[in-house]
Amino acid sequence: KPVCLIVLGMAGSGKTTFVQRLTAHLHSQKSPPYVINLDPAVHEVPFPANIDIRDTVNYKEVMKQYGLGPNGGIVTCLNLFATRFDQVMKFIENRQKNHRYVLIDTPGQIEVFTWSASGTIITEAKTLPFSYRTKLPFIVVMNKTDIIDNSFAVEWMQDFEAFQDALNQETSYVSNLTRSMSLVLDEFYANLRVVGVSAVTGTGLDELFVQVANAAEEYEREYRPEYERLH
Ligand code: GDP
Ligand code: MG
Repeated sequence: KPVCLIVLGMAGSGKTTFVQRLTAHLHSQKSPPYVINLDPAVHEVPFPANIDIRDTVNYKEVMKQYGLGPNGGIVTCLNLFATRFDQVMKFIENRQKNHRYVLIDTPGQIEVFTWSASGTIITEAKTLPFSYRTKLPFIVVMNKTDIIDNSFAVEWMQDFEAFQDALNQETSYVSNLTRSMSLVLDEFYANLRVVGVSAVTGTGLDELFVQVANAAEEYEREYRPEYERLH
C-alpha cells in the first residue's frame, strides 16, 4: 500500500514548494510519487501532477457563477470535486504497485479542507480512509529553515522551562495567555513528531522520511485496526 502524505498548512507556508521538493527528491531516489493537486486557486503547479483539481473545476468560473469570494470559491470547488473522489481512489488503487508515495497538495486554508462539506462527503463515503479528521499520525514540518533555524521552537516544545523563560521576557496579556496555554501544550508537544526542512534547499528531507516511515508504521499498528473496526 502506498504511504499517503497530505500536506496541510497556512497559505504561504510553502506547501506547494515542499511537494515540489519531495517530488524531485523521490524521483532522484527512483521512486516517483503519485501527486495530486487539490488547490483550485493556484496559478501554476510546479510539479507534474497526476491528478489536478483544476482539470475538473474552474475556480474563477465557480466564483462568478455562484457569486462567491475566494474562500467560498475554494470550498465550492472542493465540494464539486469531492463527488469524484471515489474515482481518484480507483486511480490510486490501480497505480499503487508503481508508487510508494502519494503526495497531496492542498489549498491554504486548513479549516476549508478539514471542516467543509467535502471533507464530510469524502470521509463518509469511505473513499478517503486516510482523511485528516479521522485522526491520523502526523508530522509537524517546520519549513524555511534556510531563513530561520527551527531549533529554538523545538527547544520550546521539548523544554517547558525554556519556553517559560522566553515568555517571561514579556508581561503583556498575550504572554499571560500563552503562559496558561503552554501548560496544555506541554502535554501535547511531548508526543509530537517534528522535523525542520527547507523546501528550497532540500535540507531535512532524510530526517523527514525517517519520520514518515515511523508514522506509516504507527498507522498500520494503531489506526488501521481502529478504522477497520469502525467500518
Ligand atoms: P503555499 O501557499 O503553502 O503552497 O506556499 P508556496 O509553496 O507557494 O510558497 C510560498 C512562498 O514561500 C514562495 O515564495 C516560496 O518560494 C517560499 N518558500 C517556500 N518554501 C521555502 C523555503 O524552504 N525557504 C524559503 N526561503 N522560501 C520558501
Ligand atoms: Mg500552494
